[in-house]
Amino acid sequence: MRDTLQQPKPSWLKIQLPHGHEWQHVERVLAAHGLHTVCDEAKCPNKGECWGAGTATFMILGDVCTRGCRFCAVKTRRAGLPLDPDEPRQLAEAVKALGLNYAVITSVDRDDLPDRGAAHFATCIRAIHDTSPGTKVEVLIPDYVGPGLIPILGEKPNIVAHNVETVRRLQNVRDPRASFDKSLQTLREAASGGFPTKSSLLLGLGERDDEVLDALKELRSVGVSIVVMGQYLRPTPKEIPVVEYVTPARFDQYARRARELGFSMVVSAPFARTSYHAQQAWDRASARGGV
Ligand code: SF4
Repeated sequence: MRDTLQQPKPSWLKIQLPHGHEWQHVERVLAAHGLHTVCDEAKCPNKGECWGAGTATFMILGDVCTRGCRFCAVKTRRAGLPLDPDEPRQLAEAVKALGLNYAVITSVDRDDLPDRGAAHFATCIRAIHDTSPGTKVEVLIPDYVGPGLIPILGEKPNIVAHNVETVRRLQNVRDPRASFDKSLQTLREAASGGFPTKSSLLLGLGERDDEVLDALKELRSVGVSIVVMGQYLRPTPKEIPVVEYVTPARFDQYARRARELGFSMVVSAPFARTSYHAQQAWDRASARGGV
């Protein structure tokens, strides 16, 4: 099924509109603390549902990414804005104000900084642990490896997520500084450090079934325990078009294959995103002893 922006989306891609008090509460808290979310910046289709349920995914290190992945709507420039030293405190206070038991933190890429923002990211995790000791923290990080990953792991997040985004052959939709192998290295290092790891694939970019299966096998081979597969939806006309709308039945097939490969948790559905229902994914994986 070929896409253009003019073509109506299939019936299974109906977006839930924003509603309810929780939504307004989330909006007020974020504004009061001057925080960004990937929900807004990446124009996530799940915002109505997630914010309506009182949760959001915080995006730290500014709202300007130094990478230019062709599927992503986050603003991109060669250099980001100066880091806000107050961001960790504001973030921790927002997590507390929202009463989150489970917080998901992601960031833009900051190739313009000597440590690519790893120390600041680590400070943000620590601030949440200090302010809300009972809150679990899932981090969706850039492709930090080696010394770049150590500050993050040192703060003991509950899940370390990093996305390979798509199958090996289609990695050119990512910024040229990213690669499947480098992302596998990030995941391998986090998993071998004893951290539950998670990665996501966007489907509908032209990947074949065998390539999806190969990508899943490679993720398992480096110890990834949670995998998420969701439909790529073109955020604006500036990003690459959708090649195919993957049917719910195929998402189910991929989920079965992933479970056969031994992932402790598989989320595979058109609207699935790394942070979509992240707490439920954690709860189910931990109930099965997988995290
Ligand atoms: S799926 Fe994640 S990024 Fe999208 S709205 Fe929900 S929390 Fe935000």
